Amino acid sequence: MRHLHWFQTDLRLTDNPAIASHSAADSLLCVFLMPKPRPWCNLNGLGPQRDRFLRESLQELRESLQAVGQDLMVLEGSPELVLPDLVARFGITEISTSFTPGFYERQALEYLQQKLSIPIEVHRGNSLFSRSELPFELSDMPKVFSPFRKQVEKLVIKTPNSNLSHLPPPPAGQFDAIPVAGTAPNPALPLPGGRQAGLRRARQFIFDQESITTYKQTRNCLDGLDGSSTFSPWLANGNLSVREVAHDIFRFERERVTNESTYWLYFELLWREFFYWRSVVDDKRLFLSGGVARKVRGCTFEPRAFARWCAGDTEFPLVNALMRQLTATGWMSNRGRQIAASCLISEMGIDWRFGAAFFEKHLIDYDVGSNYGNWQYIAGVGCDPRGGRHFHIKKQTEQHDPQGVFTTKWGGHRPSQPPYITDAADWPLDHR
Ligand SMILES: Cc1cc2nc3c(=O)[nH]c(=O)nc-3n(C[C@H](O)[C@H](O)[C@H](O)COP(=O)(O)OP(=O)(O)OC[C@H]3O[C@@H](n4cnc5c(N)ncnc54)[C@H](O)[C@@H]3O)c2cc1C
Repeated sequence: MRHLHWFQTDLRLTDNPAIASHSAADSLLCVFLMPKPRPWCNLNGLGPQRDRFLRESLQELRESLQAVGQDLMVLEGSPELVLPDLVARFGITEISTSFTPGFYERQALEYLQQKLSIPIEVHRGNSLFSRSELPFELSDMPKVFSPFRKQVEKLVIKTPNSNLSHLPPPPAGQFDAIPVAGTAPNPALPLPGGRQAGLRRARQFIFDQESITTYKQTRNCLDGLDGSSTFSPWLANGNLSVREVAHDIFRFERERVTNESTYWLYFELLWREFFYWRSVVDDKRLFLSGGVARKVRGCTFEPRAFARWCAGDTEFPLVNALMRQLTATGWMSNRGRQIAASCLISEMGIDWRFGAAFFEKHLIDYDVGSNYGNWQYIAGVGCDPRGGRHFHIKKQTEQHDPQGVFTTKWGGHRPSQPPYITDAADWPLDHR
């Protein structure tokens, strides 16, 4: 039995049921395919910080695999092309992978299931609940968050599986080194890739500094590490299992303190879970301008305005600082994302998908459900019962950066720009 595990958003050996399922195999080929987002919305490729976080994570995963007699093969190319080739080359008899939501991900899996005549086992992905544990069929999943939360909040979250001590050996042959990242973590907000950094951050935020006890008051801080948990990059890449994080919260509550803030961190994990499963149900509609609501929104694409938003060169200093923080570090706070998204949608009138695509390129915590779901929410074409959110930038600045410390730190004050010019070529976009 020659098996292959295809790593996607599960870059860990602990609480990874897919990788644990190969104990009886004669050999195991561990493979990761570098993501190559399809060009759309005038963008392609990964931003330098997203690329860096991923490569650091892969390097550390490879070392963890080597410690249990394994290795990691990292390749470029689409799963539809690369995996059949590997199956033929190594005589693979079974494939496993962890469930990873997304329209293209589903298409790739369906193609492989049709094309290959070997079993492809899809195990639980990085979610709190497996599909069969949800108290409803996915087709009946609530469209908005509150009824979803009420139904799942009291479910028991299973204990994460423990670490692996042994895996079958890789097939014979030399595996190429993983090319190192061309950039380093930004010292102003250092978020290194890899499981060890994620575990350190979880220990620091929950147990050492007990920042979790004031999370509800501090979560809207604009700089990471100061207020919110900043767990998202390690959750999105699967360095940390979300069940591990939930169990850390519960242990803290049992052993030390339970309050509104400790509950709120779990509440936010439920938001993540909501968008995770919604993205499975919503599938292709996650990428439509009219969204899951199929609403017609008046919007345009003005390339100069979009370029200014991306570069952090708008007439809004706070938005400029946020966008500069994003490209310099690969991260932005939740409140920052809401303000920057609202600016693109409501102040500039640009199709929300251009903003979402820019976030996809740069965020080290990029996650299809959380990114596109939140963008739709703010644009009013998704799961917001209030029909979209408009954040007033002046008020937000007074509330979240009253002294301008954040705006100055990230260079948000820019020379003023010539006014926008909308001409005859600036047609509204198609809504399908
Ligand atoms: C326009 C927009 C785009 C976004 N894109 C992404 C994305 O690509 N990937 C991503 O992980 N999150 C995304 N979010 C959600 C949220 O902004 C980030 O999860 C959060 O800022 C990460 O910081 P943190 O870990 O310190 O969060 P904390 O406040 O400490 O929350 C803890 C965890 O809960 C989850 N969480 C918190 N808020 C949300 C939320 N609104 N939606 C879903 N999960 C949440 C995350 O896993 C987070 O790590 C987006 C939000 C907006 C408004």
